[in-house]
Formats: sequence, C-alpha cells, structure tokens
Amino acid sequence: MNFHVLTLFPEMVENGLKTSITGRAIEEGKISIDATNIRDFSEDKHKKVDDYPYGGGAGMLMQAQPVYDAYQHVVSQIPENHKRRVVYVTPQGYPFTQRTAEQLAKNDDLILLCGHYEGIDERVLEEIVTDYISIGDYVLTGGELAAMVMIDAISRLVPGVLHNEMSAETESFHGYLLEYPQYTRPEEWHEKMVPEILLSGNQKKIEDWKLEEAKKRTMKRRPDLYDQYFALHECKDKLMLNKTLNMDMIESINRGRAILIARDGNDVLIQDKETGYFHHSGTKKDFFMNLPKEVRLSIKKIVLHQEEMVEPVHKLLNLQYRLVCYQSVYTPRERLPITGLYRADGKPTENGVTIRPLTMEYVDEVQYTYDHADYQKVQDKDYIKERIEKGRMYGAFVGDELAGMIGVHNDDSIGMLYVYEKYRGKRIGTALQTYMINKMIDLGWRPYSQIMVGDEASTKIQRSLNMFLSKTPIIWMGQD
Ligand code: SAM
Repeated sequence: MNFHVLTLFPEMVENGLKTSITGRAIEEGKISIDATNIRDFSEDKHKKVDDYPYGGGAGMLMQAQPVYDAYQHVVSQIPENHKRRVVYVTPQGYPFTQRTAEQLAKNDDLILLCGHYEGIDERVLEEIVTDYISIGDYVLTGGELAAMVMIDAISRLVPGVLHNEMSAETESFHGYLLEYPQYTRPEEWHEKMVPEILLSGNQKKIEDWKLEEAKKRTMKRRPDLYDQYFALHECKDKLMLNKTLNMDMIESINRGRAILIARDGNDVLIQDKETGYFHHSGTKKDFFMNLPKEVRLSIKKIVLHQEEMVEPVHKLLNLQYRLVCYQSVYTPRERLPITGLYRADGKPTENGVTIRPLTMEYVDEVQYTYDHADYQKVQDKDYIKERIEKGRMYGAFVGDELAGMIGVHNDDSIGMLYVYEKYRGKRIGTALQTYMINKMIDLGWRPYSQIMVGDEASTKIQRSLNMFLSKTPIIWMGQD
C-alpha cells in the first residue's frame, strides 16, 4: 500500500513514521510513504502558497494552484489500474474510525491532503478530493498529525505489517467490543495478582473469560458500542435456529466482520465488512421494500438464504441469479485425525505427501488449473493472486509435484478444492480438506464450505468428513 502525503511539512510526516512498526513496514516494502512539499509547486517567486480569504475573515488560506499542481505530480506517478482515494483531512469531515481504516486499507494508493492556516481554497477541493475525513471534534493547527494518525491505523491492517495475522482481529472495535484487560510478568505486582484463569492453561476457559471481560469493559466505557454488539448477537440467536443454513452469517458475526443493517421479526440483514456482500435470512416478502431507500440502493450483491426471496429481490433490486450452493458445516469441536493424510511438522508422509501454503510462483499454474477444471471453476485471476498473496491457498505436493489445492475464500469459508486427475482416489482431497478444517478449529472458528449444487466430488469428500449439508440452498445474487 502506498501513502502519498501532500503537505507543507514533509519532514514532519517522514520523520514521524519512520520508526517502530511503520518504519519496519517501509523497510520491508509492505508500505511506502512519500511526502510531497506543496510549496515546491508554488509559481510565486517567493514560494508563497497562501493568501487572504475573499470576503474577509481570520487568517490565511492555501491557494488552489500549488495544491493542484502537487496533486497532479503525485497522480502522474500512480499506475492507472491502482485503486486510489484522495482524502482531505479536515475537522469538517466524517469521523475516522476503525471501520474507515478497514475500508481505506483496501486501496492500493491513498493521497492524503493536509491543510494549514485556515484551510484550503474550496475550488481545488471540489476538483480532487474523494473523501473528507476528521480525526476528532477538535481543531489542529495542520493536517499532518491527522494524516499520520490515519497512516498508522491503516498500515497495521495491511497484510504482513503486524507479522501476526490475528492481532488486528482480536483488538478493540473488532466486532463492536473493546479489548479485554491484559497482563504480563511478574505474576504479582503491588500486591495485585494476574487473574488465576490466565495461568490455568485451559484455553477454552481463557477465551470465555476474555469475551466476558471485553463485554463488561465495553458496557461500562462505551455503552453505545455495546448496544450495537448486543443487537447483533440477538440476531445471531435467531439465525442459530437454523444453524447449518445460516452458518455464513453466524460466522461473519462470530469473527467480528458483520455490520447489522436491518432486522424485522425473524428477518435479519447484515453486511460482511471484508467482502461487502449483504446476507439476508428470513421470509418476509416486504422486508426489502421496507428498507430505507439509500440502504436498498446500496445493495449490489447479496446472499439470500430462502428461495422464495429471490423473486422479490430480483424485481425490487434488479439483481440476477449468480450461484446456488449448499452450506456445508463441520459441527464437532475436535480436530480431525491426520494419520496417513499429512504430517503436522510439514515433513512428507510415507507416500510422500506434504501440504504447505502456495507461493506466488504457483499463480499461473493454479489459475490455469481452475480455468480448465472439470469442476471448481474460479474465473478471476486477480482473486487467486490475492488469495495466494494473503497466504490463504494451500497445495498438496507429492514430492515436488503439485497434486491438489484448496483455499480460504475472502469470507473465510473453505473452498476451491481441486485434485489433479492423476492423483484422485489417493485421499489427497481428504488430506487438504482435513488440513483446512483443523486450521479453522485452531483459530476458534466453525469450519464451513459452500458447495455448488451438482458438485458431486466435493459433496462426497465433505460428507465423509462429517460435514453436514443444509437441506435447502443459499442463493448468491448480483448485478450483471
Ligand atoms: N478553518 C478550518 C475549519 O474551521 O474547519 C480549520 C483549519 S485547521 C486550523 C488547519 C488544517 O488542519 C485543516 O485544513 C486540516 O487539514 C487540519 N485539521 C485540523 N483539525 C483537524 C481534525 N480534527 N481532523 C483532521 N484534520 C484536521
């Protein structure tokens, strides 16, 4: 991810971010930060960049021309196919939150424009800015600290920056809860002991304790957040009435990725923050009709859980059928046995099988395989590339040869299982599926897949591993 800061004080931004985690991320090439001095683009012979505001008023304003030219200079260096936003940091913007950080982290390039004095001539803002963002209801002297706050918060969401996939996922605001209290050595300090449960070694009890403490803390310090958490979990209880069918929605809530959009009786509509997909479960025919218009218009892709809702959604939202799948859920809490399938230490089994994450050198081979697959087509090359980059695709190897593959979709469901014909009937598919199920269990997640109606090979493997299929299918819909 590349950050470009337009500022009158480039050294402030560069010096402020070159230490600690952001500094290391820059060195490792995970992020880049360049600060462009707006003053360098002034056409004034004294390099002046500000002037008096028309109509009077306190202070000076930054002029349009140098800001615009500095912006053009930066844009000319960003490849056309990069996803980018241009943010003006301003107290007049919408508040910067963890959710904003998550959304902005999905871009390739972010241009952050820092004002100074009383701000910037409105005409240039109208031409270049896509987002107006504030870091809080107070007024700073310049935008540099605001830009640095945003860069810090966004960087740690960029894959690989934290070196620990999970840490951003257990922190405050994830799933509407603040983080639980934490303790480190020594066990006793100022006659205060570390809570006994944390020393017990019982991981299940420790997780339960952490959740309870997070709830208590949120209720006390941020009752507004807790209300949102509570509402979402009431919906989860409703979805649990048909666990297998609604597992994607339940897991989206459990994994802290769901935003509650609407509920009406037993009908629930959430949006998954990672994928942007809406998910609906319920049978109220006028449910979508009763949504506020702006919400209705924002639904461009949705997963429906009842077939009878397809017609109303098609008519009202003009969304078409995409895919029809069964939900397939692994319900036991225990890991599956791996004997004879693969080895936990990564060494080959007796018949020479190893499973390991796929690296970028396999992108073309994997894409070619899916393009020509007799089942499990995955059309989008960028999607495969992104999955491999994020370490979410795994290969089964026999010696050095790739025998089969599996992945985790961006909604964290298990999918894309494919075994080369030559290796079929050798339990490679079972090994891959077992590997993924155990990985999910280790993360504390409920493993689930979605199997396209008619995919006999996957259905057979999933059934043999005690995965339960939903009685009725779910329907993916989107714009053509
Ligand atoms: N006159 C402006 C107003 O009332 O909105 C305030 C200008 S402020 C003194 C100078 C610059 O600091 C702004 O242009 C903006 O870039 C930055 N800034 C100040 N407070 C900020 C905040 N809360 N969040 C983000 N940026 C801020």
